[in-house]
Amino acid sequence: GVSVSTALPILTKLQKDCATPLPLLRNIADAMAKDMRDGLEVDGGSDLKMILSYVDSLPTGNERGLFYALDLGGTNFRVLRTQLGGKDERVIDTEFEQVSIPQDLMSGTSEELFDFIALALAKFVKKEGGKFVLPKNRSRETGFTFSFPVKQTSIDSGILIKWTKGFAVSGTPGRDIVACLNEAMGRQGLDMRVSALVNDTVATLAGARYWDNNVMVAVILGTGTNACYVEAVDAIPKLQGHNSISGRTIVNTEWGAFSNGLPLTEYDREMDAESINPGEQLFEKTISGMYLGEIVRRVLVRMEETGSLFGNYIPERLHTPFALGTPNISSMQQDTSQDLENVGSILYESIGVDSNLDARKMVVEVCDTIAKRGGRLAGAGIVGILQKMEEDSKGIVFGKRMVVAMDGGLYEHYPQYRRYLKEAVTELLGPELSGHVVIEHSKDGSGIGAALLAATNSIYE
Ligand code: ADP
Repeated sequence: GVSVSTALPILTKLQKDCATPLPLLRNIADAMAKDMRDGLEVDGGSDLKMILSYVDSLPTGNERGLFYALDLGGTNFRVLRTQLGGKDERVIDTEFEQVSIPQDLMSGTSEELFDFIALALAKFVKKEGGKFVLPKNRSRETGFTFSFPVKQTSIDSGILIKWTKGFAVSGTPGRDIVACLNEAMGRQGLDMRVSALVNDTVATLAGARYWDNNVMVAVILGTGTNACYVEAVDAIPKLQGHNSISGRTIVNTEWGAFSNGLPLTEYDREMDAESINPGEQLFEKTISGMYLGEIVRRVLVRMEETGSLFGNYIPERLHTPFALGTPNISSMQQDTSQDLENVGSILYESIGVDSNLDARKMVVEVCDTIAKRGGRLAGAGIVGILQKMEEDSKGIVFGKRMVVAMDGGLYEHYPQYRRYLKEAVTELLGPELSGHVVIEHSKDGSGIGAALLAATNSIYE
């Protein structure tokens, strides 16, 4: 017989282990602020790398002219052009295209990959016309969003540390990827140069800042997670001999590596141990889209094994890692029907289990527990960043309007997660301060953000 009573203690223990009461969230926020500080002190000073972006000048809205952006971060790359018309006209026009990278190029040579990209870019440039105008005697300029580990050396150069995400291209690690791209563009006879090399979080901050001068932080919650923020140059001890006219620069926290004080369960530990990077990216593994569904699946396996939560089931499906995606658990939480029919069909289609109403209710509780922990921890992380900014600014941060620009599929498509995140921020800051903090979705700001950074770092200005 199918019974939920034996699964109930598993749920109760899960809820206890995943609990994020206010004192725990406070510890997380404090630890995040401390780790940020330690990472700014010296390279390797904490879990957080606190990478300098070399972005010292942010978009103001006054940018003018034609700028391109190129985004390489996975199996697709996107090219974009935008014609900027300054304060009054703003974005006159934007066009973009997406190109998928053939599988064989992902494990070919560096020249082959960059030639392919430069060729696609050259084809896109050929279609330039209409409202897009390049002034005489100027080369085209592009921002380059490159979401792989890079040791940046200036705004327009950076050494590739290693490929990730299924790329195994030979000849690039150890080389300046901007030089690789510039050379390939030269081989294609393309009159274009890279003016700004940025990561996607930094581009998101720039894209949001263009419209709102109070944007100080950007957070990505998608497959993975990261955050960056505007920091005072004086507050970065490890930054030596760097002259910034503005006195400010964007710091990329790489906060996915945060690990202090996280409420972890046996399911998290097992998932981590079986992952390709055990012991690493623990914050990311608790709060980001790649993992939330998988944690839920592991709980359901335990409930099935100890309590026969489901009726008939197909063992391989239930036991296949990542068979239950975060979009699945999000969809299940949106089911408001009496019999939770949609929950039943998602469970059947994703992990091959039959479920009665009691089992479905149990599953929704598990999803909610994992989403709640993730959202609240992400919220605490954001407050940690705000706290760090506040401590150094001696009171000028809190009390002023502060905008946190959010992007990524998890934040965009999971309403419960979003609500938990915002609730945690409000609880931590209290009613008065939280009134000044705006958490705002900045959809797809990273593409235009990179073009804007090409503009603010233009060699012609
Ligand atoms: P990426 O982070 O891969 O560059 P996105 O920002 O679009 O791209 O995020 C995609 C991720 O967002 C997916 O891997 C998934 O985890 C999450 N996601 C997508 N759709 C949903 C959804 N409906 N509900 C919850 N999470 C979702």
